[in-house]
Amino acid sequence: MLTPSEMKDRTLKLVNEGNFIEGIYNYCDRWCEKCSFTARCLN
Ligand code: SF4
Repeated sequence: MLTPSEMKDRTLKLVNEGNFIEGIYNYCDRWCEKCSFTARCLN
């Protein structure tokens, strides 16, 4: 099991390596099964 610090490090690594669209999840209907941006959504 990861410690909170390890989880934070992994999340930051994922954010920095990914090609995510910042905050895209704030502008959707949360219907991820039908979404074209799942690969670029950090949610
Ligand atoms: S994957 Fe889900 S949460 Fe992310 S933008 Fe698409 S619908 Fe929204």
